[in-house]
Amino acid sequence: MKIKLDRTICDGFGKCAEHAPAVFSLDEWGYASYAAGVSAYDDLPPDAEQPARRALLDCPAHAIIERPARPPGARPRR
Ligand code: SF4
Repeated sequence: MKIKLDRTICDGFGKCAEHAPAVFSLDEWGYASYAAGVSAYDDLPPDAEQPARRALLDCPAHAIIERPARPPGARPRR
């Protein structure tokens, strides 16, 4: 599972870091960013998927989306 956080629509509710602190952290104003070692381009560790999905479903601003899996054989985009 890959996730994308759109910081331009994050409203700073903090739900994501509450549900998935290993995936999201909050800045001093309460806006979300990726936690250390997490990026939009890499698969989340398996144990982080369920908390991330919970954060995705509970984000009031819909600022978190699940990125579609890459088709087999496709080159990675960076
Ligand atoms: S739950 Fe959504 S709106 Fe709230 S801090 Fe996280 S990404 Fe931003």
